[in-house]
Amino acid sequence: MNITDPIFHDEAKATAHIEAQRWGGEPVCPHCGSLHVTRMGGKTQAGMFLCNDCRDKFTVRTGTVMERSHVPLHKWLLATHIMAASKKGMSASQMARMLGVTYKTAWFMFHRLREAMRDGALAPMGGLDGPAGGAGIVEADETFIGREPGEPITKGVNHKMKVLSLVDRSSGAKRSFVLDFINVKAITEIVTANVSREAILMTDEASYYVKLGTRFAGHGHTNHAAGEYVSRFNPLVHTNTVEGSFAIFKRGMRGVYQHCDKRHLHRYLAEFDFRYSNRVALGVNDVARTDTLLAGVVGKRLTYQTARGAH
Ligand SMILES: [Zn+2]
Repeated sequence: MNITDPIFHDEAKATAHIEAQRWGGEPVCPHCGSLHVTRMGGKTQAGMFLCNDCRDKFTVRTGTVMERSHVPLHKWLLATHIMAASKKGMSASQMARMLGVTYKTAWFMFHRLREAMRDGALAPMGGLDGPAGGAGIVEADETFIGREPGEPITKGVNHKMKVLSLVDRSSGAKRSFVLDFINVKAITEIVTANVSREAILMTDEASYYVKLGTRFAGHGHTNHAAGEYVSRFNPLVHTNTVEGSFAIFKRGMRGVYQHCDKRHLHRYLAEFDFRYSNRVALGVNDVARTDTLLAGVVGKRLTYQTARGAH
């Protein structure tokens, strides 16, 4: 699949592709869950189904992030593919030109696609699926980016927005969180909610992790302040994976998303986490990544409240 594929240019083919992705050939009424549905005919009702149980009508958009959008489905598919395949992301203005839609429309589509990229399955990371069935290893680290609203610029990182990320070294999956403050309470809450007790936690020497580390099967930490990036005693003890992911995130944010508003930071993080968790090094190619994103697009209930309005 590349951008010359008919599903990116032909509305009927695009619709069939999304229907197959969503329902696998067996349409389900999104209102009542019935399988007793009839495809309606005629030009004006293309893509429309009638539920024979609740008598409501629906299309493949109903109940998805595309529901209130007037953008043709082949353009949604193209946006999904480009977003999944472009390594560093893309600006809304560039996407607007490629799709032939307004900037505002491209911006709304982007944020809805980011919503679809958010990891809804919050099973704890690093459970008993590590190498040789043993405990997994999860790296945790913080990074700083942009500008925290209302904070005067000072030396250090206080005036920047704060992010905590977790990377499961076995699965390669990444989860990121925006923090208002970096302190023991905030970090403890996120790490305990997202990391399995059976996991081994890897961090730097920051004090937030000292007591927290005792809750896990193991806790390895390096001493960055002393120039130690991999433990001298155990080469498994490091946070180089999560730090490498920060480098990709920052390069992308610098190049494409110059002015990141804190209200949207979690969505940009979701986008980069998604691509990182589905990266080529883990055996995921562009086609598979697009399919995974599309599954998120049609599987995600419409809960998007911040970017209102139909576009
Ligand atoms: Zn129904």
